Amino acid sequence: MPKQIISASEMERYGYCPLSWYLDLEGIDAEGDEVHSGVEKHKEMGDSLKNLLVEEEKSRETSTTLMTVVAMIMTLVTLALVILLISNDQLRQNLGFILLIIGIGWMLVASFFLYRLLVSTEKVDKLRDDYKLGETDIETPDGLTKETPLLKSVNHNLAGRPDYLIKENEIRIPVEVKTGRRPRAPFFSHVLQIGAYCLLSEETFQRKPTHGQIRYGFDNEPHDVKWDSDLRALVIEKLEDMNDILEGKAEAHRNHKRVGKCNNCSRRKGCPERLDK
Ligand code: SF4
Repeated sequence: MPKQIISASEMERYGYCPLSWYLDLEGIDAEGDEVHSGVEKHKEMGDSLKNLLVEEEKSRETSTTLMTVVAMIMTLVTLALVILLISNDQLRQNLGFILLIIGIGWMLVASFFLYRLLVSTEKVDKLRDDYKLGETDIETPDGLTKETPLLKSVNHNLAGRPDYLIKENEIRIPVEVKTGRRPRAPFFSHVLQIGAYCLLSEETFQRKPTHGQIRYGFDNEPHDVKWDSDLRALVIEKLEDMNDILEGKAEAHRNHKRVGKCNNCSRRKGCPERLDK
């Protein structure tokens, strides 16, 4: 099998069961209603976050335009008033009135931009409330650069797109959103995936994130996963194992004895090592 780039979501699959990851590479697709509804919910959320960023950009542009128009109105009105106050000449008085009328005309333009700004701000607030984002500054992978919407690590043969990144000065904290119920502690496979995103964030932006976040739905508090040397070592160890398998130096097998895990596995039908009830 040729060496290929490993994605952070593949690491999640590997973390669940190495064989599940390998079966996926062999073309055995995940099955089940939960898989499809999860994909749809994820796409919906991704589209909404993109809309939020587009709307915020629009809002900033409208605000700048509004400020320019207001500054122009103030200049026109001030000029008109000065002319009207200091001039007795009929011609200049007329010029003052004309400038005043133009200024009033521009007020209509300003009201239009103000209306647009209010509508846009309302949409932004609603989306931020829906996703409980507060005032955090976020970025989606699409917004990184048009050429490279992915985070990549050449050193570790790894790439990935977290759902979004929280920007804190120069640091980017990756956030992964899961659609299932919130567990008391995040699942191992999800921790491995967010660890992979932390590694990617660190290499891409040359700044070490303090942690990554896993959100099980938007109504619950996120789990913060500390990006420390232990998690880094674990991610690198699993990446090396995966690269060994891709290079044919090792094989992928079931790494557990849990029947329940196999019963819940979306690739159980095509799995030669599944455990049955
Ligand atoms: S059925 Fe069991 S052994 Fe097979 S891939 Fe799924 S979890 Fe692994």
